[in-house]
Amino acid sequence: MRNSIKRAVVLLSGGLDSATVLAMAKADGYECYALSFDYGQRHRSELQASNRVADALGAKEHRLFDLNLRQFGGSALTDDGIDVPDAVTDGSGEDIPVTYVPARNTVFLSLALAWAEVLGARDIFIGVNAVDYSGYPDCRPEFIESYQAMANLATKEGVEGDGFKINTPLISLTKAEIIRKGSELGVDYGLTVSCYNPDDDGRACGQCDSCSLRREGFKAADVIDPTRYS
Ligand code: ZN
Repeated sequence: MRNSIKRAVVLLSGGLDSATVLAMAKADGYECYALSFDYGQRHRSELQASNRVADALGAKEHRLFDLNLRQFGGSALTDDGIDVPDAVTDGSGEDIPVTYVPARNTVFLSLALAWAEVLGARDIFIGVNAVDYSGYPDCRPEFIESYQAMANLATKEGVEGDGFKINTPLISLTKAEIIRKGSELGVDYGLTVSCYNPDDDGRACGQCDSCSLRREGFKAADVIDPTRYS
């Protein structure tokens, strides 16, 4: 019954990392089903970015799933009462920052898993990174390993079929390595939006943690930064 085409569900935010992951999955021969979430994020311009990226990188299908996490809030990205902080530059950022969205990757992966099971896709790709990242617990390798084990206990495919693999091709790369990899694969980073707090035209603030990691990454990769700053 199984389709001989390799299918993958790729979580696509519209940012730099997930665009690179989509390009990598495509280059590995997967037919890619991109999944984005309108979760009430402050940085809504990333949703337009996800459309541009899915088109440019030839996703077979792109779904925008409506899932308003503002109903809970609790994050600077989903709660107007919490401001997006400037990047921590003094090395003291051991605490989990307020831009953490409660259980976001657990929720997103669960929906990716559901779609994968329907599609007959065994592979799910997510652009988590444990090197140049903001310290979110749901970006760590031990989270991904546990999630995969859970996914294979929780699903029909896991019990009766070959099971699922959660692919994290960026997990041990620096931001500069990610940018170099994507550039080799022809990713146009000018299409992507990483900023947590862009203006209405999608121009980046240049101040937040995500802007800071991205800007330093382009510098270290020696690649021209196409980001539009406000
Ligand atoms: Zn920013």
